Amino acid sequence: MKKIILLTTIIYSVSTIIAQTATGNYWNNKQGCIVLTYDDATDSHLDYVLPILDSLNLKATFYIPGHSSSLYQRMDEWKELAKEGHELGNHTIYHPCHGKSLKRDWVKPDHDLDDYSVGQFLDEVRIQNTMLKALDGKTTRTFAYTCGDLNVAGESIVPYMKDYFIAARDVQPGLNYQGKIDWYKLKILSVRGQDIRVLKEEVDRAIKEKAMLVFLFHGVEKGAPLSTSYVIHKELVAYIKSKENEIWVAPMVEVAEFVKVKE
Ligand SMILES: [Zn+2]
Repeated sequence: MKKIILLTTIIYSVSTIIAQTATGNYWNNKQGCIVLTYDDATDSHLDYVLPILDSLNLKATFYIPGHSSSLYQRMDEWKELAKEGHELGNHTIYHPCHGKSLKRDWVKPDHDLDDYSVGQFLDEVRIQNTMLKALDGKTTRTFAYTCGDLNVAGESIVPYMKDYFIAARDVQPGLNYQGKIDWYKLKILSVRGQDIRVLKEEVDRAIKEKAMLVFLFHGVEKGAPLSTSYVIHKELVAYIKSKENEIWVAPMVEVAEFVKVKE
């Protein structure tokens, strides 16, 4: 009887150690993971985001549309940002979104996804990869669906993304859980005016639930549409930094490269 109890104890202990090791390694030996993503390549990213991230030594992903005027005007700074270890993610060239069909009157008729073919969309994605490679020399990167639009001409573009990217970010809210991650429809938390306490609670939840939380920011300044306040952003990333013992913070491409091989 004693032998059986001893054997059961040993089996239980070994399986616990194996489970803990698997959990520990999943997010680079941390409890959970945070990816900071910034969309649309605006000057605010260079002026207000980068200095904060640099001061905390945090690396992020910037989803870049080719038509960004900041990219044209301040290309050397964007190249430098990539050299520092941040990811330049693909966000198409013209940032096409469904306009007419969804009554988004801010979508320019020339770049209305309603009028695109799948081939046209994929050409745009491919050429943007060429442009980004010219900036950072990288051949592996991630993608962010423009406006979270996943269909072109009635067809899902999600399966095609596997040919060009290691992962793609959607705009559906939620955490991404170990072993259940949809790498081509990564869930997010869009930061747009929430109370800082709510945002900090979400960081804590990602740690507690051993999940990946992907923050989506647009402009980080006052006044611009979809913008996040400079103060909120600064306080949030400082809070994330303070949790670094528990949470892995890395660009999306690094997380995908590290985690996908384990699945
Ligand atoms: Zn965008």
